[in-house]
Formats: sequence, C-alpha cells, structure tokens
Amino acid sequence: MAAHLQALKDSKYHPLWLDSKLKPPTLPALEKDVKCELLIVGGGFTGLWAALQAKECKPDADIILIEANHVAYGASGRNGGMFDYLLAHSSNNSDYHFPGEKERIKELGIANSKEYIESLEKYDIDARFEQVGTLVIATDEGQKKSLREDYERLKAKGEQVTWYNQEEVRVQVNSETYIAGLLKNNGIDGIIDPACLCWGLKKTILSLGVKIYENTPMSDIASMGKNMLTICDDGTIESDKILMATNGFPNPMREIRNSIIPVWDYQLATEPLTQKQLDSIGWHKHKAGVVNNANMFHYYRMTKDNRITWGGGGSVQYYYGSRTDEGVADKPEIFEKLAKEFFETFPQLEGVKFSHRWSGIIASSTRFCMVPNVAYDGRVAWAVGYTGLGVAASRFGARVGIELLGYKPTDILDLLFVQKKTMNWPPEPLKYIGVELTRRAMISADKNGGKRNLWLRLLDALNLGFAA
Ligand SMILES: Cc1cc2nc3c(=O)[nH]c(=O)nc-3n(C[C@H](O)[C@H](O)[C@H](O)COP(=O)(O)OP(=O)(O)OC[C@H]3O[C@@H](n4cnc5c(N)ncnc54)[C@H](O)[C@@H]3O)c2cc1C
Repeated sequence: MAAHLQALKDSKYHPLWLDSKLKPPTLPALEKDVKCELLIVGGGFTGLWAALQAKECKPDADIILIEANHVAYGASGRNGGMFDYLLAHSSNNSDYHFPGEKERIKELGIANSKEYIESLEKYDIDARFEQVGTLVIATDEGQKKSLREDYERLKAKGEQVTWYNQEEVRVQVNSETYIAGLLKNNGIDGIIDPACLCWGLKKTILSLGVKIYENTPMSDIASMGKNMLTICDDGTIESDKILMATNGFPNPMREIRNSIIPVWDYQLATEPLTQKQLDSIGWHKHKAGVVNNANMFHYYRMTKDNRITWGGGGSVQYYYGSRTDEGVADKPEIFEKLAKEFFETFPQLEGVKFSHRWSGIIASSTRFCMVPNVAYDGRVAWAVGYTGLGVAASRFGARVGIELLGYKPTDILDLLFVQKKTMNWPPEPLKYIGVELTRRAMISADKNGGKRNLWLRLLDALNLGFAA
C-alpha cells in the first residue's frame, strides 16, 4: 500500500479540535414556547461573538442563542485556525467593490483583532492563540515572482515582512519543494484553537445570562406584528429581533441563501510528531502558519501538541445544488489526494500517521468577504459569507449584525462595505458550471506558473476572480 494511504488508513472522520476532553456538555434543546429580545441563530464564531457584544452594549438584554447541533459544529469548529486580521480577501478586490474604503477596512480589521485579543484576556478565554505570523511560500517561479512583488509592496507600506530565499525559507520550514518565502509578522496574526475559542465564548455568554439551546434547528421564521416568530422542532421563540449567524447552511430566507454558496473544504491532522520528526522540519521553533502562494492554496499549521493540520489545495469543492449534507463530507479520493500532497511537501515524515480527517462548509460570496444585511424593517439582520477568511472577521461581522439591529450603531453602518448589496449567485446549472470552470482554471493556472486562462482573465476583468 502506498505510504500516504497507509498513513490515512486508521484516521477517524472527526474534526481534531472537537475531539477534546475540554468539549463542554451539550445543553438541552428548546422544548417550549419562549420570548426574548434578541434571538441569535447559530452557535459558531458569529453567533457567539454577537451574543457577547450585544451583552456588552446592553447588559440587561434578554438574549437566546439556538444552535441546530452543538456550539462549534459548523465551520467554527472545523477551520485551520489561521488568524488573519483582514476583513476581505485581496485589496484590489476591496478597491473595486468598496471604492475609497480599502484603508478604512484595513484599520477596522486591525481594531477588530485588537479588541478580539482584549476580549480573550478580559474573559479569560484560552483560545491557544499564538501570534506567530504567517509564512507564505513559493514552490515555482511564477509564485516566487508574485510573492516578491507582494513583499516589495508590503515593505514600501511599512509592513513587518521578511523575505527568505530558498536556503533561508527551508531553515524556517524544511521542505524541498520551497523556493522562497515571505514571513508576514505584524504582531497580530497567528494561529488559534478554534473549538477552544467557541467553548470559551460559550462559557462567557452563559455567565452573562445568555440562554443557549443546542440541538435546536430553526425551521422557519414569520413576522407577527412588531415581533418575529421562529419555529423550531419542539417550541417557538417570539423575539423583537433576530440575528442570523447560519453562514453556509441553508436558511429559510431566500435573500441569505442566494448571497452565498456552500463550498466544502477538507482537512487532515497528523498524530503528534516525535522530536526527531520535528527536528527534520524545524517548524516547531516558530510555528508560523503556512500558506502557499497559489490560487488553490494549501494552508497548514502546527498545534499545541505538535501535530500538523493540513487543508485546502485543489480539494476545495462546490457540489451541484448547494449540497450541505453529510454525503459529501467524507470523500476518500479527496483525503487521499490531500495525504499525497502532504508527503510530497514533507517526504521526511514518511511513516507519520493521520489521526483525524474532516471537512467543513465555507460560505462564499461573490465579493469574497462577509455579506451583512437587514430585512423585516430592521428586525432581522445577518452576517454570512466570509469566504474562508472568517476566524477574525466573524467577530466584526457579528458587530455589524448587532449594530444593524440597533445595538449602539456607529458610522460603520454607512460604509459601502456594509451598505452595498452583494451580487447574488446565479441559479443552477449556471452556478455549478461557473464555479467548476473557475476551480479547474485555477488548478491549471497553478500548474502553469500562475498563467491565467481566458476564463480567469474575464473574471478578473469583471472583478469576480478570486484572489487570496
Ligand atoms: C475547513 C475550513 C477551514 C477554514 N480555515 C480557516 C482559517 O484557517 N482561517 C480563517 O480565517 N477562516 C477559515 N475558515 C472559515 C471560518 O471557519 C468561517 O468563516 C467561520 O467559522 C464562520 O463562522 P460562523 O459562525 O459565521 O459560521 P459557522 O461556524 O458555520 O456557524 C454556523 C452555525 O449555525 C448553525 N445553524 C445553521 N443553520 C441553523 C438553523 N437553521 N438553526 C440553528 N442553527 C443553525 C450551524 O449548525 C453552525 O454551527 C475555514 C472554514 C472551513 C470550513
């Protein structure tokens, strides 16, 4: 059996982060009709941060949070934990969609991250946050050229960046596939344990008086006079306001459904590495999160207990009809490909086993960043669609969501970033054809030194081309 298949053989399908003794007990489901001021739907980062920030704005607010499964069940318990202060992918993209706001969006991203870190300290949340920066690596000349351009641009702006040539980058993380690297070490970005963050937020909001019902899926909502009614399996919730924090999952509101698509991303985690294995890579000395400078990029990081988690690349998939069911969650061929690519990067780790494999749903918008909005005369708001960049941005999305509902609104709400309606995804089959064409074109570009074909150039011209 090939080494990568052998390594995968005994892995269990379960997110590494959720396989922990620290996981708190699941709270009882809603089994009666209740009332509250603010209902939050979704127990991921957005919902949890929204509850916390709403309580900070108005300590006596009567808040209920419902979660279809358990807190951290969605993307927030399954991500790579790569913390990046940015609120939107690609500054060119922000420039196009929100002209004149690029710098303000950046400032808001930095302020959001600083407040994030302050909150972790204030509420004593151990999210295992390590502000170790991000190492972007190049594995071919095309990637190296564009990485060098990024380096020059960032350096000219006074950002904390370090350029590594081939020999130097391999001292940082030893892979014979690397030919250059760029360390972005701004003192903010780094890596977290996403489930520990969710559980810490859960404990905090419970202590502030938020009621949480788990295993409580919302099936529908309706307007009733001045209030909203939310229907769940065994009870209803009458509330003044609702914040939808359901991200890539199906939502009864068509406006939310049409603004995002669920894209599946797959991940592996190794068993903890031995000292000899760690020394063969050298990464444990700094632990910066790593991404490669490709369209379909891999992202990988080390954990507190010296495992490597490995995700992304060409395995990222959209399934026809916006599938979010478990039928596409555990795909052997995808995990085999990921495992093969892992050992191509780190052949010296041959013999290491993968302990966990899992997948999760990324909500992607056509503007490649969060989509906030409000409906029902200001009574229902949402923040969804972080397009794979939501570890830090979801706190900001939560803030925008509650501001839209009237909790201490600020001038953030005047920004195009908030006001501008996002372009909806087209109906099927156009949606599937468009996404699949783009995915294949990006994979080809990555094999071709970054050369973008006609389709990608057309999307770029229309500012619909994804750029990390
Ligand atoms: C595999 C993967 C890797 C990623 N890696 C990174 C990364 O390294 N860095 C980064 O910045 N971002 C990353 N992301 C993106 C990031 O995880 C998300 O943007 C972020 O977690 C979104 O948080 P959320 O709370 O909005 O959504 P979610 O965490 O998905 O939470 C939504 C919750 O709503 C619940 N829900 C849905 N429908 C209902 C309903 N009808 N009733 C009740 N509850 C409902 C769901 O069960 C779920 O728990 C990754 C995502 C994935 C999937």
